[in-house]
Amino acid sequence: MDTSKLIDGKAIAADLRLHVGKAVKTLKSAHDYAPTLAVVLVGEDPASQVYVRSKHKFTRKAGMRSLEHKMPEDTNEDTLVALIETLNKDDSVDGILVQLPLPKTINTDRVIGTIDPQKDVDGLTEISAGRLSLGREGLRPCTPEGCVILARSALAARGEDFSGKHCVIVGRSILVGKPAAFLFLEQNCTVTIAHSRTKDLDAVCRSADILVAAVGRPLMVEGDWVKKGAIVIDVGINRVPNTDPNAKRDTKLVGDVDYGAALENAAAITPVPGGVGPMTIACLLRNTVIAACARRGWPVPKALD
Ligand code: NAP
Repeated sequence: MDTSKLIDGKAIAADLRLHVGKAVKTLKSAHDYAPTLAVVLVGEDPASQVYVRSKHKFTRKAGMRSLEHKMPEDTNEDTLVALIETLNKDDSVDGILVQLPLPKTINTDRVIGTIDPQKDVDGLTEISAGRLSLGREGLRPCTPEGCVILARSALAARGEDFSGKHCVIVGRSILVGKPAAFLFLEQNCTVTIAHSRTKDLDAVCRSADILVAAVGRPLMVEGDWVKKGAIVIDVGINRVPNTDPNAKRDTKLVGDVDYGAALENAAAITPVPGGVGPMTIACLLRNTVIAACARRGWPVPKALD
């Protein structure tokens, strides 16, 4: 496989986590304080359990405190809201993350809306979204922020920057597509958001200098949808049957982009897994340090500049 065009999300995330670790050391020596991230998981969704375990592991590795609140699938919405209110009031908690998706019986908007915006390290409250759309400082959603960091690294490797580049984002979810659009706009890209009603999606994608796919449809973006020399960021995580008879598992993960076919035209592309996924957690850790500093009026350590 040609790896020369690979945007190595694992390595870039490891580097960001290293910087987070250094920032935590600075806070410990300057203030005798380690930031704390509280993660709330409701139910038994296997993928969510894997994410929460990784978040816990990397939070501790970075020298921070990690609190896990696991609640049963049939948790009452008021009980969950009450837990978040308790975490809001707890001065030792700097960041609160509610693992999504929540069980269908629970009103996700109400739960997310309960999180104190100062502790909103996932960047999903109305206040965080409003600040992003107004171009004001605030906690940015982790996955889209990871996309920007990966695209920046691919551009920098070519001696280029974002200014004036056409960024096409396929997907308009609150979690990924919409915040990604604002973040790339903030970087002076010209931004197009595409979605399920977009006409001539292939032609729209072909006009992208930076193509971000956040759809949730395995291999939807075909090789010839990618312009020669484009940078491709594949956010999709799709579990599909493994057709390789020698494979150890009968399923595998693929992205929204047909990686092998897109390689031909792309200048650089993120793999799945090992692209955007690791960045999401690294950005979460960074947000937790930023939130801890903002609430206490401390400068963010230089390691995170
Ligand atoms: P979502 O809420 O389901 O949104 C999907 C978006 O794709 C919608 O805006 C939808 O358009 C659009 N879409 C669906 N079918 C389409 C089509 N045929 N053509 C064009 N657009 C289409 O999903 P999400 O939460 O944004 O997640 C997207 C993917 O990213 C999923 O695979 C998810 O697992 C993955 N993800 C990865 C990470 C990570 O850390 N790597 C984090 C979050 C999500 P409409 O609005 O018109 O319906």
